[in-house]
Amino acid sequence: MTDSETSRDGNTVPRTPPDAFFPEESGDGAKESTIAAIATAPGEAGIAIVRLSGPKAGALALAQFTPFSGTKETISPRTFRLGVFQDGTGQPLDQVLFVLFAAPRSYTGEEVAELHCHGGTLAAKLVLAELFTLGARPAEPGEFTRRAFLNGRIDLAQAEAVLSVIRARSDAALRAGVRTLQGRFSSRLRPLHDSILRLSGLLEASLDFPEEELPECTNEGVLRELSALSEALSRIYERSRQGNLLREGVRVALVGRPNVGKSSLLNAFLQESRAIVTAVPGTTRDIIEEVLTHKGVPLRLLDTAGIRTPEGPVEALGIDRANRAFEEADIRLWVVDGSEPLTREDEELASRLAPRPHLVAINKADLPLRTGPEEIRTLLWESTIVVLSAERGEGIEELKDALVRLWGNDASDDEAHNVSSRQVEELRLALDALSAAKGALSSGLGQDAAATAIAEARGCLERILGLSWDDALLDTIFSRFCIGK
Ligand code: GDP
Repeated sequence: MTDSETSRDGNTVPRTPPDAFFPEESGDGAKESTIAAIATAPGEAGIAIVRLSGPKAGALALAQFTPFSGTKETISPRTFRLGVFQDGTGQPLDQVLFVLFAAPRSYTGEEVAELHCHGGTLAAKLVLAELFTLGARPAEPGEFTRRAFLNGRIDLAQAEAVLSVIRARSDAALRAGVRTLQGRFSSRLRPLHDSILRLSGLLEASLDFPEEELPECTNEGVLRELSALSEALSRIYERSRQGNLLREGVRVALVGRPNVGKSSLLNAFLQESRAIVTAVPGTTRDIIEEVLTHKGVPLRLLDTAGIRTPEGPVEALGIDRANRAFEEADIRLWVVDGSEPLTREDEELASRLAPRPHLVAINKADLPLRTGPEEIRTLLWESTIVVLSAERGEGIEELKDALVRLWGNDASDDEAHNVSSRQVEELRLALDALSAAKGALSSGLGQDAAATAIAEARGCLERILGLSWDDALLDTIFSRFCIGK
């Protein structure tokens, strides 16, 4: 097969894609197409990396590459070679570094080649276009990582951790992401999965052969095991929930009557903080969201439009959203105007706050206080209360500390698992299923019902680890990745 052909007038004519660079190592992967994408962020930068993966990765990348020293044939894996990359007409596109990872010792487990171009958008784009002409296929979002999972290089929890490392907005989230990437989360979860598997097997055997009377399979024995499993799993769940908050940010909804100073407080927060990460445009017209990081914890502050009785259809819509923010927030920050007495509206709000994680900020402390901590305690006797003045910027630091503390003292806890919301939800479902199994056994529903619930728990863990999956699940996970990852 020829490498490439160019017509005399310089136009590219259809070229036959080259053979694999290391044909003997391509193995089964030959069935897969070779994908290519720019792996670095767009824009001016030092370098831009074009990455290829698949049986022809090396051959395609080398087709138009001429090393400055030696020949292509002398290139060995994992060694950078400087050279020039040309288009189909022989025009140099860029001076690039070429490196090859032979299968299976690569990110994806397939043959992987990288062309390190100069940063900026054009060179890498033209190199990529040339690779497409040669027969590479544009990679889908997350397809490199998806292939790494499918080829058994990483499990699904690790694949998702790649995203949490990329997206980390705080030191703590990053550390937790890297730990998950290194397999810490999976290695905690796998023994629990094994125990559930064993328990399932035992129960099923005892149901199939009731006359055998397996000694470990008494209701008491199974209950004991289930309790131990639940306990271990809920520890992982708690750490994952915390890690997930580190990743997604703690959603703090500012609630309270109009004019108590919610917007002023938000401004005070942001003015004081030198650590503003991003200003996320509100998802709705009525809710402003700002993100700041305090002590390594991203706090997502939601200024709700005010939760009260609507006075018109437009306001009703805003209040609807405010109510949703109130329900979905991790912490509700109730702002009270300390210069005024409490009202009926405040009492109603307090009763809604009582059962949910919340914190009380008594604002306008620069004025004579008519509502202090004692008055708040008559409504919410257990709450954390911070007295402050948004206008003077007093008490803001204390409030931020209180928010971080309320969320969990372990912000920098080196045990937090940075996992996705999907994984947290699967863990929660697994815990529910285990308690359903316990319920079935202790209420006399029997081992049959328990076995079904235990199988459910097993399914949850398998979907987290990627021991069982379908294309739809993978599509959901990897569509959140960027192209080139
Ligand atoms: P929101 O409707 O809850 O968002 O309240 P705003 O932030 O718009 O504030 C309502 C009014 O209270 C404005 O006139 C602010 O200047 C005033 N205000 C806010 N915080 C303070 C404070 O700490 N002290 C005093 N004296 N006035 C404040």
